Amino acid sequence: MAKQVLPGSTIGVFGSGQLGRMFAIEARKLGYRVHTFSPDSDTPTGQVADIETSSRYDDLDAVRNFAASVDVITFEFENVPSATVEAAAEFTAVFPSGEILHTTQNRLREKTFLSTNGFPVAEFKPIKLIDDLHRAVGKLGTPSVLKTAGFGYDGKGQTKISAIGEIESAFSALDGRDAVLESFVDFEKEVSVVCTRGQDGEFAHYGVIENDHRNHILDISFAPAAVSEKVFNEAIRIARDIAETLEYVGTLCVEFFLTKNEKLLVNELAPRPHNSGHLTFDACVTSQFEQQLRAVCGLPLGSTDYYSPAAMANLLGDIWESGEPDWGAALGDPSVKIHLYGKSEQRPGRKMGHITAMANTAAEAVNAVGNARNVLAVQAKLLI
Ligand code: AMP
Repeated sequence: MAKQVLPGSTIGVFGSGQLGRMFAIEARKLGYRVHTFSPDSDTPTGQVADIETSSRYDDLDAVRNFAASVDVITFEFENVPSATVEAAAEFTAVFPSGEILHTTQNRLREKTFLSTNGFPVAEFKPIKLIDDLHRAVGKLGTPSVLKTAGFGYDGKGQTKISAIGEIESAFSALDGRDAVLESFVDFEKEVSVVCTRGQDGEFAHYGVIENDHRNHILDISFAPAAVSEKVFNEAIRIARDIAETLEYVGTLCVEFFLTKNEKLLVNELAPRPHNSGHLTFDACVTSQFEQQLRAVCGLPLGSTDYYSPAAMANLLGDIWESGEPDWGAALGDPSVKIHLYGKSEQRPGRKMGHITAMANTAAEAVNAVGNARNVLAVQAKLLI
C-alpha cells in the first residue's frame, strides 16, 4: 500500500514553468501547499505556489534544504541534473524516480530503452564522431534527422540532413555534443497518449490526442484523434507497457508518429504532464495535472472522461509582435477559454499561454481555437 501524502502537506516541484503552474493550481484546489525550486524568480509556477526557492540546481545544500522541507517531490522540467534528484531523494520520495528522469532526459538512453524493450521506434544510430555520422547516413539514407542527445525540445538541437553534402555542417552544429541520427519518418500524423500510473500500478489515460506542429513546436492538439480503433488500442497498449516497464509513477506522455500504413513509432517520452494534455485541464473530469498530484501523493486516480471533444492552440510570443492581443475579442466565443502563464518577456517561439475550446466535434473545437487565435493576432495588429 502506497504511503499517502494528504491535503495540507507540501508538494515540492523542481522546475517553475507553465506545467508547474497548472500543477500548482490543481494542488491548491485540493488543499495542498506547493514549493517550487528553480534558478529563476517570479516564475509561472512561483506566482501560484506558496513558496518559490530561486537557487541553482547544482547548489546541493539548497536542494537538501528544499527536500527536507517538503513531503514529496515531483518535477515539471526533465532536465534537472541527476545529482540534484539524488540529493533530494536522500530526504524525500521523488516521483517519477531519478532513474526514469535519467533515461528520458537523453535521447540516446531513451531510444535504447525503448528499442531494447521491443517498443517501436524509427531506426537510429548513436553519433560521437564525424565518421559515425558518415557511416550512419550511409545506413539510414537521406533524409534523416540529427538530434543532440541531451537538452533538446521543440526541435532545438535538430538538423535535417537531406543530402550527403550536408553532413559536415550538420556535424559542426553539434558543437561536440553527443547526438543521435534518426531515419526521417514520412508520417501521416503525430499523436500522443497522456497517461498516469499510480504507486499501486493503477493506470488511466486520456485516449489518443492528435497533434499538429508548426516549426517543430506544438501548434494545435485535439481529442479524440481521428484514428482507427486498431491504432487507438495499439497506442494505449504501448503507452501502458512503457509505464509498466519503467514502473512509472506520475503522468507520462508518449509521443508517436503514425505512418501512412498505420504503424505507430514512439518519437519521445515526456516524464511529466505534456503540452498535448493541456486540453484536459478544461475538458476532463480530472486533468493531467491533478492525476500527477494524485499519483505522487499515493491517492486513487480520477476519471479521465471528457465532457466533450476539445482542442487546444498554443499562444507563442509572436502574437505580441504588433502589440497587446485583444483578449476580449477572443473571448467573444463563449466556448473559448484562455490560459496565460504569467511570463513577462514575450519572445518569438516562447510558449506564453494557450486557448482551449470544447464543441460537439473535435473539428469544431479546432475551428474555435483557430478562430480565437486569429482574432487575437488580427486585433493586436489593428490596435497599433
Ligand atoms: P522532437 O523534439 O524530437 O519531438 O521533434 C519535434 C518535431 O520535429 C516532431 O514533433 C516532428 O514534427 C519533427 N520530427 C522529429 N523527428 C522526426 C523524424 N525522425 N522524422 C520526421 N519528423 C521528425
